[in-house]
Amino acid sequence: MADGRLGANRQRASHAEAERAAALDVLVVGDGPAGFAAAAACAAAGLRVGLVGDRLDEAWPANYGGWVDELAELGVGHLVRHSWRDATVIVRPPKERSLGRGYALIDGEGLKAHFAERLREAPRWAGRAATATHDATGTTVTLTDGRTLRARSVVDAGGHRPALARRAAGDPGFQTALGWLLEVESHPFGFETMRLMDFGDVPGADPRRPTFLYAMPFDDRHVFVEETTLCARPARPIDDHRPLLEARLAALGVRVKRVLETERCWIPMGVPLPPADQRVVPFGGAAGFVHPATGYQLATALRRAPALAAALAAHDDPRLAADAGHAAVWPADARRVWALLTFGMEVLLDLDLARTRAFFEGFFAVPRADWSAYLAGTATLPQVARTMTRVFGAVSPALKLRLMRHGLSGHGVGAVRGLVGG
Ligand SMILES: Cc1cc2nc3c(=O)[nH]c(=O)nc-3n(C[C@H](O)[C@H](O)[C@H](O)COP(=O)(O)OP(=O)(O)OC[C@H]3O[C@@H](n4cnc5c(N)ncnc54)[C@H](O)[C@@H]3O)c2cc1C
Repeated sequence: MADGRLGANRQRASHAEAERAAALDVLVVGDGPAGFAAAAACAAAGLRVGLVGDRLDEAWPANYGGWVDELAELGVGHLVRHSWRDATVIVRPPKERSLGRGYALIDGEGLKAHFAERLREAPRWAGRAATATHDATGTTVTLTDGRTLRARSVVDAGGHRPALARRAAGDPGFQTALGWLLEVESHPFGFETMRLMDFGDVPGADPRRPTFLYAMPFDDRHVFVEETTLCARPARPIDDHRPLLEARLAALGVRVKRVLETERCWIPMGVPLPPADQRVVPFGGAAGFVHPATGYQLATALRRAPALAAALAAHDDPRLAADAGHAAVWPADARRVWALLTFGMEVLLDLDLARTRAFFEGFFAVPRADWSAYLAGTATLPQVARTMTRVFGAVSPALKLRLMRHGLSGHGVGAVRGLVGG
């Protein structure tokens, strides 16, 4: 009897939720930075938007970093926890090279609150989306607990394992890393600069599988350090990085008191771009936004969210809205640039420490405007091609030969296909 009443109540509640959601233009699935950015942009575009996520009230687990100028341009330059006047790289030790570009650690809580403020009127549901069924007027999303939500358009921002969107088959590489926020007795890093990439020697490390250090010093007692494999296929186990990080810190003279926080990083890179013939529009990690050369995606999500919202707002017909949404998430030009960047990633996968150093020496020797745009993912096709040509011109004959061989391999052919839109 009591069970029956409970069931009826649950049914009524789920019906009421579906009714509320029936009024939605857009339902965003996923509560990471991409989901919040997409939902906030939809609200700003005047769309009735709702958000469903399984970690709505939790802090985002990752420490996001980004370039100061880029964050300012995206309107979130004030939402940083710490910033550094400059970022440096050590490609050929001991020379530390200034990149002449400020870097910041994003205030994740602040960024989430910034979006949440724009979503004051938007309904949010704590739960996990399981399935989506489509008809002529919209989509019904069923959550794992049986509740149903309905909207004209659905955006999947469920991260690297998309919640609802179909993904093309592919063979991505993986960035893996182990990061520690440390309390230290002393460290050798300057306070005004952060070290974006340190390919200095690590005692005992295998030169065939290079890793680099990423280091953000906060004060003389606290520093965040991360040992990273830029990209590997298959993924290098995260725990492989522990002895390397320990050995590197010892070699650098970092005297550790204790580990305050641990960050475990696993990011698929160079995933195939999502098929555009589906009603669910993927966004963020789910849409393959992770930059094939850096592992970053946040700036791309912030940059493309308004275009996605405008595209979804432009059509009442759900099919047309989905088509426009896909085109906004992955414009044709951006697809071509990505094909070339992914080819660049394939090249890096195979390089040992000596060749990786030669490659980055060439890379950071190109004009800043070009490498900046390359890393930001905003480079035009000619800009990416020019950067690659310059890097090619700067490297040794042996590396040139290797790059040429790679260009003739299946991956090179794949890149050409991507460039011509095949
Ligand atoms: C440790 C680490 C550090 C990183 N550092 C940076 C950085 O500095 N800069 C940068 O740009 N990128 C960085 N990245 C890349 C990173 O993957 C992305 O920037 C970002 O987290 C991806 O955002 P997202 O919103 O697409 O996905 P996620 O952050 O993965 O968020 C997806 C959310 O959706 C929820 N979800 C999934 N499925 C469902 C479902 N079925 N129903 C409801 N909710 C669901 C998930 O629980 C999660 O909360 C880092 C990644 C890691 C792992």
